This record gives sequence, C-alpha cells and structure tokens, in this order.
Amino acid sequence: MEIRKNYINGEWQLALGGASRDVINPANGEVIARVADSTAEDTRQAIAAAHAAFYGKGEWRRMAAPRRAELLHRVADGIKARADELARLDCLDNGKPLREARGDVDDAAACFRYYAGLISVPQGGVYEVSDAFGPMHAYSMHEPIGVCGLITPWNYPLLMATWKLAPALAAGNCVVFKPSELTPLSAVVLFEILHAAGLPAGTANLVLGTGPAAGQLLAESHDVDMVTFTGSTRTGQLIASAAVGNLKKVGLELGGKSPNIIFADADLEGAVEWAMIGVFFNQGEVCSAGSRILIEESIKDAFVARLAERANAMTIGNGLDDPDMGAIVSQGQMDKILAHIERAKQQGARLVCGGERYTEGECARGYFVRPTVFDNCRRDMDLVREEVFGPVVAVQTFRTEAEAIAMANDTPYGLAGGVFTSDGARALRVIREIRAGVTWVNCYNPTFNEAPWGGYKMSGYGRDLGVNGLQEYQQVKQVNINLQPGVLGWYQH
Ligand code: NDP
Repeated sequence: MEIRKNYINGEWQLALGGASRDVINPANGEVIARVADSTAEDTRQAIAAAHAAFYGKGEWRRMAAPRRAELLHRVADGIKARADELARLDCLDNGKPLREARGDVDDAAACFRYYAGLISVPQGGVYEVSDAFGPMHAYSMHEPIGVCGLITPWNYPLLMATWKLAPALAAGNCVVFKPSELTPLSAVVLFEILHAAGLPAGTANLVLGTGPAAGQLLAESHDVDMVTFTGSTRTGQLIASAAVGNLKKVGLELGGKSPNIIFADADLEGAVEWAMIGVFFNQGEVCSAGSRILIEESIKDAFVARLAERANAMTIGNGLDDPDMGAIVSQGQMDKILAHIERAKQQGARLVCGGERYTEGECARGYFVRPTVFDNCRRDMDLVREEVFGPVVAVQTFRTEAEAIAMANDTPYGLAGGVFTSDGARALRVIREIRAGVTWVNCYNPTFNEAPWGGYKMSGYGRDLGVNGLQEYQQVKQVNINLQPGVLGWYQH
C-alpha cells in the first residue's frame, strides 16, 4: 500500500525514520491507507522550512494581497474540483454520513473564498493624533505573525484544517499543519491542492503523525511564533504550557458541555428537530454539541417522548450509504462513549433510548453507538459535567428563567449554548447571561464563515472564522511619521 507522505518545503517525503501507520475505516475496521508516522525530527524540518520561507525570502508575506487572494481562490477552485474525492475521504476515515461530508467540503471552499475576499479590501487605520510633538501622521498596518503551528482534531478533518489554514495563509503567514492521526487523508489532498495552486515552497507544510510525537514541537519550538489548536481541554492545557518558552501566541478551541435551554412557549416540534441536530449531528462528535438539554418542567414529558421517537427512527450505518448517523471515529472513542453511558446508568440517570453499541448487519464490524437520551439527570452526574463527544444527551428540568440560566452556567466550559422560546425579549435576556462564545436562538449549530467562533472559560480563547479569525493570525504595527523633521514639539524648551 502506498504511503501518504509529509509535504515539507514544497516536496512530498516519507517520515525521516521511515515509519508509517495504518488509517482505519471506523465503519468496518478495515485498513484504508498508510500514512507517514512522523517524529519531532520531521516537524523540526517542517518548522525550519516555514521559518526560512517567512524570515528568508519572505515571498508569501511580501506578495501583494490581491495576488495572495488569487491563489486562495485557486485553492477553493481545487477543493470544488475534487469535492467528491474529499467528501469520500472524510467519510471513510471519520465515519460521518456522506452528505455531511459534502457540506463540509462546500464550507471549506467557501472559507478559502471568504478569506481571499477579506484580504482584498484595505485593512489598517489612519489616526488623527495631537500635534504635541509637532505635526505627525499616524497609521496602523496588519502584518502576519510569522510561523504558525496548526493542530486539528478528527471530527471535521477538512473543515478544521480549513478554518486554520485559510486565515493563517490569507494573513501572509507560513504554516506547519498537523492533522489528527485518525483522519489525515483529506489533509493530504488539500495539500496537493495548495501545491497545485502555486504557493511558494515552505509556505504551507504538512506533518502526519501523532500529537505527542509530531505535534508537541509546534507548541515548544522557539522558531514557531503562534500555535493554534482545536481539541480536548487537557491537550489544550499541555499546549498552552509548552508554548510559554518563547511566549508564542496561542489560540485554543477546546471542549464543551453546552446547554440547550427550551422554554414551554417554544415551538415544540422545531425545538426537537434542532435539539437532534444539536446532539446527534456528526455522531455528536461536535465541540459545540448541545449535550445538556435544559427543559421547562411542564413540557418535559412531551419533549422527551418526541425526542426519543425521533432518535429511535434514525438510520445508522456506513457513512458512504448516507445514513442519518455514521460510525464513531475509532474503537477508543466508542469505548469512551459506552463507558460514559454505563456511568450515567450507575449514577441514576434514566435511560430513555439508545444506550448501547449498534451492531446490526455489517455494522457489527464497525464502531457505532445508538443515539442515546438520558432523563432525570442531576448536576453532580459525570454525564452533566464531562464532555462525552458522542451521541448522548442529558436532560434536566427547570422551573424559572433564573434557574435555567444558573444551570446553563454551571459548567467549567463556555463554548456554546442555545435558547428556544417564542418570547423575543426573553431570548435576548437569557443569551446575555449565558457565559459562552457561540449562542443560538430557536436553532442549534448553524455556523457561518462570516461570524467569529470560539469559547469562554475552559473552552479556550482566540477565535476562528470571521474578521476576528483573520486578526488572530495578524499583528498590528503602529507607524508614526514626523511631517516636519527636526521639530520636537513640547519636548523642545
Ligand atoms: P486531542 O485533544 O488529544 O487531539 C486533538 C489534536 O491534538 C490531534 O491532532 C492530536 O494528535 C493532537 N495532540 C494530542 N496530544 C498532543 C500534544 N501533546 N501536543 C500537540 N498535539 C497533540 O483529542 P483526542 O483525539 O484524544 O480526543 C479526546 C477527547 O477530546 C474527545 O473524547 C473529546 O472529548 C475531546 N475532543 C474535543 C474536540 C473539540 O473539537 N473540542 C475535538 C476532538 C476531541 P493525534 O490525535 O494525532 O495524536
């Protein structure tokens, strides 16, 4: 089987030590590819290439923004041209349903176009400053940060890569990217597209391998100026502490235990459908998953019954067959989800539906979990406190708006939250009180390239997407020009 390679300094190469690893299809446990299994030495080489490209010739950062934008549009064209292949690959190594993977591909192309557009309009500002020092002209300009290390998880392989690569490159940085070892295949194609688009050698580098072996150096190296990471809170903490050596900038998009608050005056049917998307989309492997449903007591029974009915009707299967829900990414992740389910049962939550591995037909060979709803959950249960990252939701009840808000904020996380109500003023009141970076009213999970995405509290800091997402990868330089050389203003006696 051909080994998928690292892409360093414009060239494809095997890991320096020659090691490679299998990539598994979680729908049936079969090996679908072999990829380079890199060590810190490969990453060191990739960082050196990015460093030389940025601080040496500086071709990419010096390139006029419209030309950079043109190349990013070419990348978007390349993604569209290879859309079927990319969607299939994300489906194969992640397990997600094909139409969801197709949506990710469309979003990825649109994201490159969005950032190409953003850098095509002037940035920076001109300032009216006092003449205390004599006549002065002041302005600011946005510059790239330098060498950026990008580390992404396995739940949205192509899209998470794009959320980081598109703004980092648009800003003029040189990057080293390490995708998850579980889902590296679409990244390889994306780098073929970057290569074909004509990015200068060393601008974008790809290192395949595990986090501890190939990723850690991106946080530690003094030749990296910024590291951005999406993944678990624990790994985020490791990265933040490894990054202090050279005080590199750190961006962290971490886990969540997000509240989805449903008031009795909400459209019940709509709330059920959005709650399903909130917690079962992408097998529930979504950082913003609405994994805590907080529901007003008077409608709880009707809501839970309808949610269970809809969950039980979901089709489960190989992502390529486009079911409602695909496979969990790995056996390890499936075992972790099943352990959460067992603990919830032991701790007294009432299992309403699901609660077990799904093994019908061909699925017996893969890693599938039935969509699971637990009722009667309490704040002290692990299911209410810990991120599961799977299709499992905890239902709790409240009686008053104040109680709902207190329950929503009763978590160390602060990534997302939703509110369902037909009372507009209440929706806005509650949203203002939720300590989370991404919130929804009468919907759950829609995400837009134009709007910033990121967390409060232990869900991290920094923002992906939107103008803020570009600014994360920029630094601002202030320029002050003396218009009358020799004049020292008030300083001159
Ligand atoms: P991790 O946070 O460990 O992995 C995310 C990325 O970080 C992967 O590319 C991983 O590499 C890399 N990584 C791991 N350790 C290091 C390190 N020391 N230095 C640099 N990079 C590192 O998540 P897991 O895959 O282990 O999932 C565990 C749990 O994390 C899930 O059950 C879920 O709760 C949560 N999670 C949250 C995500 C989110 O979007 N918020 C996404 C994924 C997981 P590799 O995997 O190749 O070793």
